[in-house]
Amino acid sequence: MFEKILIANRGEIALRIQRACREMGIKTVAVHSDADAEAKYVRLADESVCIGPASSTDSYLNVPAIISAAEVTDAQAIHPGYGFLSENADFAERVEQSGFVFIGPKPETIRLMGDKVSAKITMIKTGIPVVPGSEGALPNDPKEVIGIARDIGYPVIIKASGGGGGRGMRVVHTEAALVNAVNMTKQEAQVAFGNPTVYMEKFLEYPRHIEVQVLADQHKHAVYLGDRDCSLQRRHQKVIEEAPAPHIRPRERAKIGEKCAEACRKIGYRGAGTFEFLYENGKFYFIEMNTRVQVEHPVTEMITGIDIVKTQITVAFGDKLPFRQKDIQFNGHAVECRINAEHPYKFTPSPGRINTLHIPGGPGIRVDSHAYQNYFVPPYYDSLIGKLIAHGDTRSQALSRLRVALSEMVIEGIETNIPLHRELVTDAKFVEGGVNIHYLEKKLANT
Ligand code: ADP
Repeated sequence: MFEKILIANRGEIALRIQRACREMGIKTVAVHSDADAEAKYVRLADESVCIGPASSTDSYLNVPAIISAAEVTDAQAIHPGYGFLSENADFAERVEQSGFVFIGPKPETIRLMGDKVSAKITMIKTGIPVVPGSEGALPNDPKEVIGIARDIGYPVIIKASGGGGGRGMRVVHTEAALVNAVNMTKQEAQVAFGNPTVYMEKFLEYPRHIEVQVLADQHKHAVYLGDRDCSLQRRHQKVIEEAPAPHIRPRERAKIGEKCAEACRKIGYRGAGTFEFLYENGKFYFIEMNTRVQVEHPVTEMITGIDIVKTQITVAFGDKLPFRQKDIQFNGHAVECRINAEHPYKFTPSPGRINTLHIPGGPGIRVDSHAYQNYFVPPYYDSLIGKLIAHGDTRSQALSRLRVALSEMVIEGIETNIPLHRELVTDAKFVEGGVNIHYLEKKLANT
């Protein structure tokens, strides 16, 4: 196994990866910005290297600094976590060219999935259901564009091929607005992503967000670890996630899961990955693939007993997956609340010092957080300070445990979204299960 891994990330995921490494007897190198010098995982790491000032452009996105940190510490592999450089194919390439193992898929796979048009074409070829839409990039001729939209039927959505993070998309309801909307999206895409390519899809009005977790090794084995429902979102940011997705029949789950695992085998995927789908009227429609570990991976770990981060490391080393599909059992239900340092209803960031911290516990409760009493939440990065995960034999038990845990959890000195979570976990529709992706924003608009 690797002897030493450099963790090119910060916050709760840096701690999560470090825990996996320590459990496996692997030494860790923490890289950090000036602002994170005091972080818990930096102190717990075997070695740490400051890679720049607070701004992420100069630190967590500073490729030469990260590569030289790996060189001076003799690390063998680099785990990119999520966000930052995790889906940057050029970074993965630089890591491998410099003689380190990138803990993730091959650079060419990241590149293929990072471009939405090439990702969608690949999915069609491998048999994954996609949202009806243009065959690849939209042509320049406005008449052809109008024809494509007529075939699809309004409303349609224009999406930038290079888009991400919920940006570079525009919904069009009428033919009169179409050509202008396409041109505007192209211009914005050129400025934001350096690529003016756009494509068109049917706009699904009331979908749920359901995703499939996969794991694949370098020996053409791939499995699916079931699904997650992440429909509770605000501005395309997930707020609560759960596994399995409510009201999806086991046969339906197995069918879409097997298609995803088969797609992995066909494209030579390696590592952990997620196929994201919109789900409407009993059908799955692929929207994108994430080629990295996700924030919400713990809910899947809780119901399968599989450590996704440890598996990422062993398959990156070249090991075979230690299980087959038939070995994977889904036990009970898990729900995760993302705890953010932000105002619970205005959503303004609330960095600062945590002066009181009480972490809940008890059966089925897991807290993944780098925060501690007196920790200073820096203002430079995203506001996620931890995740509270509850597991139970049934969804109802998981929710009961989550309610108790949320009532015990105290974070003072900064504002957090805990009050919002307390409300959401008692919301009648959410408790029923299966709300669509607009549910949370509509609820917030009405209160
Ligand atoms: P990004 O990479 O920016 O996150 P996605 O393709 O994953 O982009 O889409 C982000 C979100 O935009 C989805 O979760 C969904 O809310 C909305 N969306 C994308 N495509 C469609 C579609 N065809 N119909 C309805 N909503 C869509």
